[in-house]
Amino acid sequence: MKVFEKNNNIFRILSEAISEGIIVVNDDQIIVATNEAANEIFGFEEDELISEKLQILIPQEYHKNHHNHFENFVDHSGKRKMGIGRDLFGIRKNGKKFPVEVGLNPFVIYDNNYVMALVSDITLRKEQEKQIYELNTELERKIEKRTEELHCTITELEEEIKLRKEAEAITKESLKKERDLNELKTKFLSLVSHEFKTPLSGILTSAALIGKYTQFEQQSKRDKHLDTIKNKVKYLDNILNDFLSIERLETGKVTYKFNSFPLSKVVNEVVYNANMLLKDGQRISYPDDIDDYIIDFDEKILELTLSNLIHNAVKYSGENSVVDLQVSFEDDMFTFKIIDQGIGIPEKEQEFIFKRYFRAENALLDQGTGIGLNIVKSHLENLGGSITFTSTEGQGSTFTVQIPVANNSK
Ligand code: ADP
Repeated sequence: MKVFEKNNNIFRILSEAISEGIIVVNDDQIIVATNEAANEIFGFEEDELISEKLQILIPQEYHKNHHNHFENFVDHSGKRKMGIGRDLFGIRKNGKKFPVEVGLNPFVIYDNNYVMALVSDITLRKEQEKQIYELNTELERKIEKRTEELHCTITELEEEIKLRKEAEAITKESLKKERDLNELKTKFLSLVSHEFKTPLSGILTSAALIGKYTQFEQQSKRDKHLDTIKNKVKYLDNILNDFLSIERLETGKVTYKFNSFPLSKVVNEVVYNANMLLKDGQRISYPDDIDDYIIDFDEKILELTLSNLIHNAVKYSGENSVVDLQVSFEDDMFTFKIIDQGIGIPEKEQEFIFKRYFRAENALLDQGTGIGLNIVKSHLENLGGSITFTSTEGQGSTFTVQIPVANNSK
């Protein structure tokens, strides 16, 4: 037991070269040897710690636990690190607590148990760890903040992209509209030059001929030419109306006006105008029992629809034929049928008939623009109505128009 006291010099010589503090305690936790590094770490003079209780180097609050640990350690003795998973502290002579790392090595000399503790002052390391921890925390905080900022920027960018895309779509749409309008104007100019030429020269000829019939009794001849003039002017007026309609539909400027009117008023007007276009022996048959129908619809659109369809029926059928206009009312819907016995529409071209500017091959000898059916369909669909047809080439066509009418009476 006195081995350390006796051989203190040997121990000292052996241990002084080691930079870690060495503290040897006996079974009773009495310090039996220390090296210079241990004295320095704990702030004691040489040999001052000898015969002191180990507790002197352990802060008060750990005394009880340390005692238990020590007993346990001696029971299961073996070389190991102390305090794995928890912070260990020593206490200096001046009462200052400081973090330590301790390795324990039990050994036996002459049947006496000893434990050699290798102690390192890890104040500096702990300080650095703390600094690193703080730096890491600060870094994490900054990263979090930056990520959040980045997130905000991304959201703003996404918003900006969305706005730009919307603006781009609007610009594209208006560019397309502008292109369509330009195309329309070009088409209009070329149509005007073709379609207006013939009626205008007809009007000119009739006007010139009227001037030649100076005799009183030549009134019937004058009337015939006046009719021709009216007919051609009406034709040109129809084309211009169709163009105006397209322009309104294209620019979104179309507005509908609902009013109550007697159905017979529109039918009479349309038939009266169409009569001017009739060929020899042609006639229009229309119902004479519709006087009491009061319709609540856009009057202009109904007139445009019926006159387009009746003019087509007249135009695309021969002399001595009948154009039949039928009207019926059922389930809040007015149905108009315009039936002719004309040239009909070739089956393979029927699917294109409502396309703007489309004209069937068998219709090319007659004047026309291919606009009427297209705008009639657009207007009707805008107003909740519909237009369909059946046709057999060489036999005739039936166009069916349906319009919803809320208020009506008979
Ligand atoms: P347009 O008569 O001025 O050519 P529309 O749009 O009114 O223009 O008609 C488009 C085409 O549909 C006509 O060119 C013609 O080929 C065909 N079509 C329309 N109505 C009839 C009809 N009643 N009989 C035969 N073909 C028709």
